[in-house]
Amino acid sequence: MSNATPGIAEITRAIRNVPDFPKPDIQFKDITPVLADAALFAACIDLLTADVKPGSVDAVVGIDARGFIFAAAAAIKLKAGFVPVRKKSKLPYTCYEQSYDLEYGTNTVAIHIDAVKPGARVILVDDLLATGGTAAAAVALLERIGANVVEVSFLIELSFLDGRKKLANQNVRSLVTY
Ligand code: AMP
Repeated sequence: MSNATPGIAEITRAIRNVPDFPKPDIQFKDITPVLADAALFAACIDLLTADVKPGSVDAVVGIDARGFIFAAAAAIKLKAGFVPVRKKSKLPYTCYEQSYDLEYGTNTVAIHIDAVKPGARVILVDDLLATGGTAAAAVALLERIGANVVEVSFLIELSFLDGRKKLANQNVRSLVTY
């Protein structure tokens, strides 16, 4: 491996496309090769938090489950707390829940009612923006507990699915766009 700090091109090369997972016609973006490489993983966290001053946000919020990996590492770098948005029925304390539509059926995500103080400045992080339903539901939960969402960040954006439209009022960052 070279000593140069890797950038978006190297991260992009490491993302593995797995056709037909978990079902036919889905092109699954497998980030495990990125995570397994120390320099690439660190570069992801640096790029996801570029221009954010340590101490300037109260929490980094991660979306269940791959979002946790990036959000937790970003939280440590930014000297912020970590907050999980989880799938329904996983969090132990009193929660707010938000449902959103899938192609078939609905999904529900949840957050502890006291996850952050009202007015807290937070960044929301997930691995991938597809249709935007998951991230928009997480934003709705954060707004319900009074958080101030300063940015929504993704490693990967599938831009042909127009997920940004569901995050129209948000400051959205993505590193790798397909
Ligand atoms: P969406 O709500 O449609 O934006 O979907 C985003 C969530 O689904 C993220 O938490 C992703 O981890 C996951 N996801 C959706 N599509 C893919 C894909 N093609 N490859 C990997 N993960 C995906």
